[in-house]
Amino acid sequence: MPRELSMQPFFAQRFEKVEPSFIREILKVAANPEIISFAGGLPNPHLFPVKAIDQACQDVLREQGAAALQYAATEGFAPLRQYIADRYLARHGMQINPDNILITSGSQQALDLLGKVLIDEGQDLIIEEPGYLGAIQAFSVYQPTFKPITLEEEGLDLAALDALLASGSSAKLLYGVPNFQNPSGVSYSRANREALAERLVRHELLMVEDDPYGELRFEGEHLPPIAKLAPNNTVLLGSFSKTVVPAFRLGWMVMPEWLRKKVTIAKQATDLHSNAFSQQVLHRFLTDNSLDAHLEKIKEVYGRQRAAMEAALARHCPPGVSYTRPEGGMFLWLTLPAHISAMALFDEAIKEKVAFVPGAPFYVRPEIKNTLRLSFSCVDEATIEEGVKRLARALQRML
Ligand code: PMP
Repeated sequence: MPRELSMQPFFAQRFEKVEPSFIREILKVAANPEIISFAGGLPNPHLFPVKAIDQACQDVLREQGAAALQYAATEGFAPLRQYIADRYLARHGMQINPDNILITSGSQQALDLLGKVLIDEGQDLIIEEPGYLGAIQAFSVYQPTFKPITLEEEGLDLAALDALLASGSSAKLLYGVPNFQNPSGVSYSRANREALAERLVRHELLMVEDDPYGELRFEGEHLPPIAKLAPNNTVLLGSFSKTVVPAFRLGWMVMPEWLRKKVTIAKQATDLHSNAFSQQVLHRFLTDNSLDAHLEKIKEVYGRQRAAMEAALARHCPPGVSYTRPEGGMFLWLTLPAHISAMALFDEAIKEKVAFVPGAPFYVRPEIKNTLRLSFSCVDEATIEEGVKRLARALQRML
């Protein structure tokens, strides 16, 4: 290590403002087995198709041998890209050329690649507020000026978006999670999607439509991706983390043709290609098993647990607390009376042995403090009831 380490700015300027993920710190506290944790954002491991993946691994190795273990194409395993394209056709009637699909190492990598290719220092970047922390972190490396737009019950606050665009903003990117958003559980309505798509086209914006939860709808009607409404102005991100397993680290980008080449070069420079063996195993799993049947199991469990959480909140929460009612995904968002800080509630809740994620880190404007995220994916119904009871007790003490 160079001796002058403490005497000069050693790290790149671009990394100075990048914060460690606050959630990781919370998860360390919540890892205590006595604590009921609504904090984690993990898919439920009891639903991982372990046996089928074991079989798929063996089949790939037996049938492909060494070929399964070789370097591979940057764009990803062609049959997997075809599978993804076929699924968009079946689910949404979207005609996607598999050439426009790039397999990524989770959708998290897609965020980084887009930052690399599209964000200049100081440039405005429009993001939902509250917004996905991992996106804020990934984009921060490229030093944009975040321009938050409030996420309301029906989707983005379009009046605020119009005002920002009319003010001569330098934004060319808009990041959002239209289905069962992390952290709020909110989805954009059909009308909100249509109005947003029209603005993307009119203002020549590119939307980063991050959709890891869209397949986890346990209630209500499926809504069209914004990428279907404005295909030339949207990059649609998908992920197998919540629908199959996160450990494979496999996601994808659906890109308009004009964007594809640059992003593929960025991907090549970053990691040559995503894990080729896991792509083959995943594809094998998807062809030998029904993803729809597997998703039904996940949705049944998450739907039940969401209902249990909602019922427990209705039973135990003091007046003045409101919460979202997600129709899918893994998260529910609580708004406390304005004078109560969720961070202070966290300390009280830990005394009661229950954990959640305070909302503050999901805002780029840190002054909003009275919200919090509850995850219902990994906690069974009886434990949800007990955890919400404890949370309400902690809250009562603060009122
Ligand atoms: N986007 C959102 C909105 C997420 O919630 C997550 C996972 N927490 C990701 C992207 C990253 O997922 P992955 O890299 O596992 O695909």
